[in-house]
Amino acid sequence: QASQRIRNFSIIAHIDHGKSTLADRLIEYTGALSKREMEEQVLDSMDLERERGITIKLQTVRLSYQAKDGEIYELNLIDTPGHVDFTYEVSRSLAACEGALLVVDAVQGIEAQTLANVYLALENDLELISVINKIDLPSAEPERVKQEIEDIIGLDASEAILASAKTGIGIEEILERVVTMVPPPKGDDQAPLKALIFDSKFDAYKGAISYVRVVEGRIAKGTTMQMMSTGKTFEVTEVGVFAPSMRLVDELKAGQVGFVAASIKNVKDTQVGDTITDAENPAAEPLSGYRKATPMVFCGLYTVEASDYNRLRDSLEKLHLNDASLIFEPETSVALGFGFRCGFLGLLHMEIIQERLEREYDLNLITTAPSVIYKVTTIKGEVLNIDNPSNLPKVDQIVSIEEPIVKASVLVPAEFVGPIMELNQEKRGTYCNMDYVSTNRVKLVYELPLSEIVFDYFDELKSRTKGYASLDYELAGYKATDLVKIDILLNGELVDALSFIVHKEKAYHRGRKLVEKLRSIIPRQMFEIPIQSVIGSRVIARETVNAMRKDVLSKCYGGDISRKRKLLEKQKAGKKRMKQVGNVEIPQDAFMAVLKIE
Ligand code: GDP
Ligand code: MG
Repeated sequence: QASQRIRNFSIIAHIDHGKSTLADRLIEYTGALSKREMEEQVLDSMDLERERGITIKLQTVRLSYQAKDGEIYELNLIDTPGHVDFTYEVSRSLAACEGALLVVDAVQGIEAQTLANVYLALENDLELISVINKIDLPSAEPERVKQEIEDIIGLDASEAILASAKTGIGIEEILERVVTMVPPPKGDDQAPLKALIFDSKFDAYKGAISYVRVVEGRIAKGTTMQMMSTGKTFEVTEVGVFAPSMRLVDELKAGQVGFVAASIKNVKDTQVGDTITDAENPAAEPLSGYRKATPMVFCGLYTVEASDYNRLRDSLEKLHLNDASLIFEPETSVALGFGFRCGFLGLLHMEIIQERLEREYDLNLITTAPSVIYKVTTIKGEVLNIDNPSNLPKVDQIVSIEEPIVKASVLVPAEFVGPIMELNQEKRGTYCNMDYVSTNRVKLVYELPLSEIVFDYFDELKSRTKGYASLDYELAGYKATDLVKIDILLNGELVDALSFIVHKEKAYHRGRKLVEKLRSIIPRQMFEIPIQSVIGSRVIARETVNAMRKDVLSKCYGGDISRKRKLLEKQKAGKKRMKQVGNVEIPQDAFMAVLKIE
């Protein structure tokens, strides 16, 4: 049977351990593309992914490989992102596979995301093949890493493949191992159709395209497909595979991975996790879908020019089509006008969306500091979900405020345990446990408020461990805490977009630091600007931006013309990111200042 020669697998790894490079080598080796045709990293197709060297959206590619047994195999490779924000995407791709390459950097060893991804793979019953990558590096220690794989993960590492995605060592061995170790997909291609949508995308010509793993039955051009969650039907116009660009095929059947187009106008009709069946011979039960992605971090997005508002909305809608985990709804700020409150999986996700909006849609944005969702119980007995600090009810209306808590695991060399414990203490963490995962590596588990992670945890973690620590976290629940809101007044007027929520014990300190920081960020204007931070009606700190001296430019007259031009250009560039709030001009940096104080 043909499906005996299909292998569906993905690559899992901690970020930077070499997934994308390895995927490229596999594509190159199997001749899906010649070396010349290969752009640096084929699978990371978004510009941003290439520049940052990270994978954001999962990608799939079909490879054709003639194994040593003489048979030609169809290998479907699904690349996965490695950052903690995108664990959701990883779990989606794994549900479409029977096996996974577990890639571990021969220098770095096992990291927090390696473990997190292994757990996901085990949940999905995947066959794991260990690959120790980057053995070309002089500092590679494959034997130590093998030991870690055995000690920490409990996999037999004696068979681990030593590879270099850079030089090509081990590539053939990997392909052979995929063929012999990863089981062929089961699924009956004569049964009623069941195809899992693991991703979807909008194409201007083909309409909404579903990326599917056919689990049972078959789907072809002309099939009347039915979405099992909504009952809606569509006639299939095209089916195809990624090789690695889209290529049409006659049909996709049980075990295969590819795409389906049906002139669907609305991407909402191709929901990720839904099951496609055949309307004429429907399956009785849908496949088990996915857990929904929950946004954890929120911020306000506003355009510098009010007239760009509609463009921002259109752009958010377009991005949402490709990335259902991005959510947004209109909000109004007294200070910033009309904008959107957007929800993201994490900070990296937030940065990436902002950057895409600015680059791909040419928008000039003001972003407010990120916030988590607080659960607020009011004296009326209501429970409100507050994702924008400025919407927090007045103190006398509040019975309690609960904040999200995450369970965070940090993997770190033993010498850094002290600094990490200190950091977690400062971040209001609760110690859970500590494990020696190998002779020199420790896994520390803490419960931490998510808001502290959003604040500056990553940067602190990195600097206090010289970059040796890695972090993974998941939502663990909500906990009532003593929290207060700090408001900022500029020139006596409340700037709602600068309000933030903070633990009572840190309130005074942060309120003070923020006004100091704001004073250094807000440029001098023609008049004096007092900056105050207040809790309720109590002022806790005050600074003043002095009025501008009129002779800033006149100094240059008659002098160096190029210096003057530079100064003017600098002012102009600065202007682009200024927002007029009342009669004060506030630069973008001011809205992020709260993240940069300590
Ligand atoms: P990903 O985040 O797991 O997708 O990692 P990438 O594939 O983007 O690789 C991260 C970095 O490691 C890049 O700079 C690669 O060039 C480099 N890299 C990947 N594989 C190897 C390897 O086998 N040897 C060496 N020396 N560098 C590698
Ligand atoms: Mg990558």
